Amino acid sequence: MTRFFSIRFRLTASFLAIILAVMAIISFFLYSTLERYYIDNFTNNLERSGFLAANFVTGQLTGQVNSVRLSVLAENMSLQSQARVLFTDRQALVVGDSIRVGGLLNQVLEHEDAAIALKGNVSSSIGYSDRIEQTVMQMAVPVKDENDQVTGVVFLSASLEEVYRTLNDIRRFLFLSTVLAMAVVGGGSVALARRFTGPIEELTVAARRMSEGKLDQHIEVRSGDEIGRLADQFNLMAKRLNYYTTNLKKFAADVAHEVRTPLTTMSLLTKALKEHEMEPEQQREFIDDLDNELERLVALVNDLLELSKLEKNEFELEEVNLNDFISDFIIENQYRFATANLDLAGNLEDQALVVSAAPLKLRQVMSNLLDNALNYTGPGGTVTVSLFREGNEAVVMVEDTGCGIPAEDLSYIFERFFRVDKARAREGGGTGLGLAIVSEIIGKHNGRVWVESEEGSGSRFYFALPLTES
Ligand code: ADP
Repeated sequence: MTRFFSIRFRLTASFLAIILAVMAIISFFLYSTLERYYIDNFTNNLERSGFLAANFVTGQLTGQVNSVRLSVLAENMSLQSQARVLFTDRQALVVGDSIRVGGLLNQVLEHEDAAIALKGNVSSSIGYSDRIEQTVMQMAVPVKDENDQVTGVVFLSASLEEVYRTLNDIRRFLFLSTVLAMAVVGGGSVALARRFTGPIEELTVAARRMSEGKLDQHIEVRSGDEIGRLADQFNLMAKRLNYYTTNLKKFAADVAHEVRTPLTTMSLLTKALKEHEMEPEQQREFIDDLDNELERLVALVNDLLELSKLEKNEFELEEVNLNDFISDFIIENQYRFATANLDLAGNLEDQALVVSAAPLKLRQVMSNLLDNALNYTGPGGTVTVSLFREGNEAVVMVEDTGCGIPAEDLSYIFERFFRVDKARAREGGGTGLGLAIVSEIIGKHNGRVWVESEEGSGSRFYFALPLTES
């Protein structure tokens, strides 16, 4: 049943119906024009022969009529005009007939055309001749004397067989042309439909496989037309979906792994507390450790929530003067850095750099970058926050003189849960999500993040935001 609803079937059927209608109309007009042409031509020729004969026999149909002479004349004319020729007098009596034996000589010609001709007008009709068993054209031409009086009639009867044979040939030709046109168009439209629907069928199969969970689908793009572009978009969609799903699975596994570590530690600590007699001091140590692990879990869950919120929500943006924003931020953090025996310096451009941003989110970016600089730079080090303009962007750089990042890890640094040194990062309370959050927030502001670092001598984290028009 679906075969009949398929585009291929409908396209072919429509093309065939159109070509059939077009050929029927063309055939109808061509055939009627040619039929009219042949019949008119035949009529004109017969009429010309009739007038010629009428001229010839003027004066011979009255008075003493010589039937033998007239019949010989009729016979000669019949040979020339390919028609039977009769002459009648004014009373419609046949006085000459090209058919000698079995003719109508001396009989009254009772024929409507002859009766009309006797009244002075040419008359013709198409009828059937029993004698030759063929369709014939009959024509009666009046014979007039010098006073324009009708003295008799020339009656001609010619077979139309030749004309109808030609017309039949034309009809057969038109029919064959229609069949041929339908075969060509039918074949062409099947090929065309296959060309169009082939990729659609491929798309359907690929989409079905995707719905069955096989996401790594790829369709070969063979053309640059609408269907080619659709296939292109489909491939892109499949690739993205596959990428997201793989990432999601990896992310879920990573989350489980991240949660398991503090949970295992907490479970061990709780068991130890339950099962072993301890000094109050030792007990306090265990409880502190438990508290630390709990804090780590809370931080992880908070960061995860933050990331999922970032993916969902749009920010409310406002104009932020980065110079003021960053210098305030540096002042706020000065004490924290001094406590860790670190120098926090600012190097800000004089020119006011204004961006369109969500201030709270921007605070979080700065906070994550400064926390990292603090965590990964040893006492006595320096952290410098710079602000400058580059083209149409405001660029913020957080530079530290800390441990740096190995070159091979630089390209993964903004990925979720990526840590250079897992144990050390965890010890410092890191969730592995700080830079992923930075990247997500800056991305949402149509900005860019990047990092430059040399292992052992420090890192420079950058983010750039488009400057507002004003
Ligand atoms: P974490 O919570 O572990 O700090 P981040 O996403 O903030 O997670 O950072 C990912 C990893 O990048 C860190 O574990 C650390 O290995 C590395 N890193 C981040 N900032 C710095 C820095 N300023 N200096 C050296 N390494 C850094």
